[in-house]
Amino acid sequence: MKLVHLLPLGKLDVSLLRDLCGAIPRCLHVACEILPFELDPTPSYHAERQQYHSSEILQRMQPLVRTQDWRLLAVADVDLYIPILKYVFGEAQMGGPCAVVSVHRLRQEFYGLDPDDAVLSQRLLKESVHELGHTLDLRHCQDYRCVMASSHSVEWIDLRESTLCESCRSQAESKTALAEKRA
Ligand SMILES: [Zn+2]
Ligand SMILES: [Zn+2]
Repeated sequence: MKLVHLLPLGKLDVSLLRDLCGAIPRCLHVACEILPFELDPTPSYHAERQQYHSSEILQRMQPLVRTQDWRLLAVADVDLYIPILKYVFGEAQMGGPCAVVSVHRLRQEFYGLDPDDAVLSQRLLKESVHELGHTLDLRHCQDYRCVMASSHSVEWIDLRESTLCESCRSQAESKTALAEKRA
């Protein structure tokens, strides 16, 4: 079965996770479940940046990957970074199996605006589908409406749909078909 397991990374609003779990299958045609335990993000905290190193989080997720896991997506509420960038919304292993996203910079409050749960849920969904797309070996898409379009700010995330464009969808389907044949 194709399955996405959601892994809470430390403390996280449960309703956000439940919404995401319900929405992912509508965008990617896979089943989705929330894991009953969480991963502590603390070991990936770097005091000099006051942020969490997302690549280290991906490394620490490896032992949690089980054979029946199709993809493992960690969801955080902390500020993520990789050394060459100021911050990232998320990071994925190209070709899988692990990805991580954070709601930290997806909240309207982060930009001095009023909280908006609907906007936050949509952004989290788009970021999650985007990172899961990378785990299917998808690269960034030129179509700004495609969920695989690159985004350096939340405004760009808001412009995207939460689904793959025709071209990305057929690429993803040919890759998963190949993977199934090999298995
Ligand atoms: Zn990307
Ligand atoms: Zn696309």
